[in-house]
Amino acid sequence: MRKALVVGNWKMNGVRSDATDLATAIKTGFEDNGADIAVCVPSVYFSEIDSLLAGTSILLGAQNVAEHDSGAYTGEISAKMLNDFDCHFAIVGHSERRSYYNDSNESVARRYSQSLSQGITPILCVGETLEERESNETFSVIDQQLDAVIDLAGIESFAKAVIAYEPVWAIGTGKVATDDQAQEVHAYIRNKLAQLDAGIAENMQILYGGSVKPNNATALFAMPDIDGGLIGGASLDGDAFLSIYQSTK
Ligand code: PEP
Repeated sequence: MRKALVVGNWKMNGVRSDATDLATAIKTGFEDNGADIAVCVPSVYFSEIDSLLAGTSILLGAQNVAEHDSGAYTGEISAKMLNDFDCHFAIVGHSERRSYYNDSNESVARRYSQSLSQGITPILCVGETLEERESNETFSVIDQQLDAVIDLAGIESFAKAVIAYEPVWAIGTGKVATDDQAQEVHAYIRNKLAQLDAGIAENMQILYGGSVKPNNATALFAMPDIDGGLIGGASLDGDAFLSIYQSTK
């Protein structure tokens, strides 16, 4: 039985006091229902949020990680640096990284491997643009995004990873994929992995991301291959985020 997981991605929002207020609100209102919960916070606030969440079961995550181990890579944050904190997750391949910063499939695969090298669970984001969906390329895009990681890190690496299916057209747009649209892609991903390793596929946590809100989370999370969510906008509101967490099965 897969454990559900709800992850908040705060992106580049707010300032220090907003981050600590939000973490405090989540910590105060949190009622453990057996599912996992995490917040991926801006890295400048890592130390503070790490201390604030210490002793709770709310896990800390990063929004990205460098593709190199160390060296002259101005502005990047290595997996080893993240590992100085109680960092459990690192998002890799978020569509905003892929589209605004040109993170290629190969670069995402290297970031995924760096994360694993430090025992940090990568949350590998995959998903198609509207144009790709409309030209029936959804599955081939997902194939390319997954294959780059499988080629570099191997299918066995997925035993320690999470996948997030995030249709680009649903991120921050208020346009949520229908439950059936999301389930179809989640099932496709699980079947693809199953062709390489049935056990890994069965245990794989596959999250849905794209305009998840308290009013649509229950139906999405009830789908058989949706194991929780990666939440952007709604994770900036403590009550909304906790309500989404409570929608897990
Ligand atoms: C995201 O950025 O990963 C995301 C899913 O954002 P939103 O929930 O705002 O669509």
